[in-house]
Amino acid sequence: MPAPLGESAPIPVGPGRPRQARLAALLYAPEQVRERCRRIYEAVVDESSSVRSGDFAKIGADDLERLFRLYDAEFFRGCLSEMLQEDAAYPMAFRLSRRLTRAAGQTMRLVRKVRRAGRVVEQPEYEIAVSTTLLFNTFRDVDREVIVGGLVCGDRLEALQRIFEHELLHLAEFLGWGRSSCSAENFHMLSRRIFGHEGVRHDLVTPREQAAATFGVRVGDAVEFDMEGSRLRGRVNRITRRATVLVEHPSGALFTDGRRYQTFYVPLPLLRKI
Ligand SMILES: [Zn+2]
Repeated sequence: MPAPLGESAPIPVGPGRPRQARLAALLYAPEQVRERCRRIYEAVVDESSSVRSGDFAKIGADDLERLFRLYDAEFFRGCLSEMLQEDAAYPMAFRLSRRLTRAAGQTMRLVRKVRRAGRVVEQPEYEIAVSTTLLFNTFRDVDREVIVGGLVCGDRLEALQRIFEHELLHLAEFLGWGRSSCSAENFHMLSRRIFGHEGVRHDLVTPREQAAATFGVRVGDAVEFDMEGSRLRGRVNRITRRATVLVEHPSGALFTDGRRYQTFYVPLPLLRKI
């Protein structure tokens, strides 16, 4: 008898004690971490058609897949792909994001209810996204030390590795524990034991810092810009890929300071400080 579509796929094993024990047993000494990371670095430069050096200017989603494969082999003993396969969630998705302007990366777990072998089961899906906005802002105009996960990064590829390691820990937690939080102790324990990370923050160059360094524009600054033939004056309220500028106007929206403003999203090079 033919089965309805999807019915024949395996039933996801899901998180639990055996997985938690495998992940919590992973432990590498600092020099092992350095060696393995270096091998991954060299393999990426060797294999990738975009990332040809540590200061690459181009990257593809296939590079994130490559990093996944290399890290899974070097640090996770193949655990991650094995668990994804057990959950019928392999291959997982990798994405480059321009919209992430504060977080350097994001790992998502989506759960759908599906029918398998006559019963309803939870089918997880996973995705890791990496911010190209932060990656390419860093090691460009702003010249300073860059730290991710408590470790100093020598170039853009090293920064990408630290970001990716952080996201892989989220993935590992999702697979083992069903949830993940980088502000909780379990995450810190895994990040120390597996990657020798000494923190969970990054100081990659955000659009905000980039704007200050390149255009001298900061949140709160009074600015002017030209819009459809007229010159407008306002104040910078937020900086992402563009600046959000509030311009006082009687027909604008009411703000908490009791005044009315129109909101404009202005590319940074078009702003002038006044
Ligand atoms: Zn995190």
